[in-house]
Amino acid sequence: MDTELDMSVLYLLSYGMYVVAAKAGDKINGQIVNTVFQITATPPRIAVSINRENLTHELISQSGMFSVSILDNETPLAFIGQFGFRSGREMNKMEHVTHLEGINSCPVVVDNALAYLEVKVTNQVEVDTHTIFIGEVKTAKRLKEGTPLTYDYYHQVKGGKTSKRAATYIPPTTEPASTPEKRGRFQCEVCQWIYDPTIGDPEHGIAPGTPFEDIPDDWVCPVCGASKSQFRPI
Ligand code: FE
Repeated sequence: MDTELDMSVLYLLSYGMYVVAAKAGDKINGQIVNTVFQITATPPRIAVSINRENLTHELISQSGMFSVSILDNETPLAFIGQFGFRSGREMNKMEHVTHLEGINSCPVVVDNALAYLEVKVTNQVEVDTHTIFIGEVKTAKRLKEGTPLTYDYYHQVKGGKTSKRAATYIPPTTEPASTPEKRGRFQCEVCQWIYDPTIGDPEHGIAPGTPFEDIPDDWVCPVCGASKSQFRPI
């Protein structure tokens, strides 16, 4: 029998965009997750898939609690980048983010959140690189009106990228060789976002037509916050 495995088909699955946060001892962390879904209505249970290497995984395992902040459509890319591409082992991701202390001291991120859930873990399932944490929703609270950010919108409209540790990561196919039109492009080695001088980064003051070399040294990757020195020509 012929088998076919077109990984791009998996991109057609729909997801949202969330910050999952947890605390254990004096360690606190949050990360971007797209794989959050409801399992049962009575009692209300949801599941989240988290990479076993992530600090958030360690904190959920130890504390048995996590929060899920449901992100607004208008969330800036840099906010998602900070949570999605940086490791909480290297920096305190919660330091410059407004969060409140919830049940059992579990942090809840409120910046860019439409609503949040507080969840007590009841089961967990180990699946290769990831753990599915299943839990009972203890709090479900609305913070403001708005449209929830979807994974598709993040990719298609905002130009967002997927972390290598995400449950839905698919390795990119090799970039086509540079053509005259594509010359001068630089790629972020952290998140793979590409700076195209014909487009620039107008949102952060870099006008279309600005060569990469002319960008100020304090400019950072609009997706993940990596420094200019972490870009390579492609
Ligand atoms: Fe980046």
